[in-house]
Amino acid sequence: MHTNPIDRRDFLRTSAKAAAVLAVPGSLMNLTAARPETRLGVALLGLGNYATNQLAPALGYTEHCRLAGIVTGTPSKIAEWKQKYDLPDKNIYSYDNFDSIADNPDIDIVYVVTPNALHLPFAERAARAGKHVICEKPMEISSDRCKMMIEACAKAGKKLQIGYRLRYDPFHQEIERLGREQVHGKVKMVNTGFSFYGVNNSNWRFTDPKLSGGGPMMDIGIYCLQGIRYATGEEPVAVTAQSFKTIMDKLPGMEETIFWQMEFPSGATAVCSTSYVARDNYLRVSTENGVYGVDPAYTYGPLAGYINNQSMGEYNHRQQTAQMDAFALSIKNNTPVKTPGEEGLRDMLCIEAIYKAARKKKRISLL
Ligand code: NAD
Repeated sequence: MHTNPIDRRDFLRTSAKAAAVLAVPGSLMNLTAARPETRLGVALLGLGNYATNQLAPALGYTEHCRLAGIVTGTPSKIAEWKQKYDLPDKNIYSYDNFDSIADNPDIDIVYVVTPNALHLPFAERAARAGKHVICEKPMEISSDRCKMMIEACAKAGKKLQIGYRLRYDPFHQEIERLGREQVHGKVKMVNTGFSFYGVNNSNWRFTDPKLSGGGPMMDIGIYCLQGIRYATGEEPVAVTAQSFKTIMDKLPGMEETIFWQMEFPSGATAVCSTSYVARDNYLRVSTENGVYGVDPAYTYGPLAGYINNQSMGEYNHRQQTAQMDAFALSIKNNTPVKTPGEEGLRDMLCIEAIYKAARKKKRISLL
């Protein structure tokens, strides 16, 4: 009979702990220690800004997974992570010995949080090692590389989630529902923008197009693309786009500001922008009978939603905690992933069409 590997691992963890407890005299038995570890183990790979300041803290609140290990190319980071998160030496990997994670039953999920063009090689290695994969956005730097990642995970029989944290945020889920159920009539137009002013930074995303794959479109415009797609519930049929640069000696080989427009099968349209020299952060949906949106929309929080002139409230939701718990549950229950590789691929196909439209200065069909 086929045994689910997760169930078997959980069983082994449980029985090892039960055996340890049985060896202790009854009066000293610690019931907390006897509780089986049912949370899946996550190893964060690439301990930069997002992993350090968002994902690791978010794993302090997850119910169905936990921070169990790290994979890093920077040995000087290890001591602090070990001490802060109580990580055993056997769950700490370098990029060189990472493949041996295959033999570590503490790790169920590898979360790839490196520069964009390194997502594919690390995701492939994680899947080959028999681990489920979470990959940060943008999924990769081309649709071909996204397809390769999907294939690698499928071939290994492992699940793949793209780290689209906002799909697990209640405001954004409400935007999706209002459109799907046509609560205020059909969606007619979406206006959205996500920008920040950060062009002087020396990080790879501003300096190395081979690693970033592009400018703000890849980095933050992708949230607008997601927003448009779940607000309309449709896939675009065509795009037009215009790209601009105001600081000529910065952002080599990538855009600084890009405006784009999208057409949908229902006739709905979208008008969007992303930039490293502006300060936008909104999603606004116009329908037959009203207007609703989220503003601020795309940052970690607090976010604020509205319907017509009424506030839907303003709050901080633990987006990353919800995202990682949802993935852990989809593994435990073997249910579909809400933001699978195919979602990342669809966005990448749109981004490629938007870049092409800007370059050729003409309407590009997505059909
Ligand atoms: P970062 O530069 O702060 O961290 C990148 C990490 O990758 C560092 O630890 C670095 O040492 C490591 N790395 C490995 N090989 C490298 C190489 N060849 N060059 C440079 N660094 C290398 O970046 P970040 O802001 O943490 O972004 C990492 C990923 O997470 C990106 O794909 C980014 O788009 C994504 N991200 C997502 C969100 C979100 O809200 N979902 C937010 C920020 C970043």
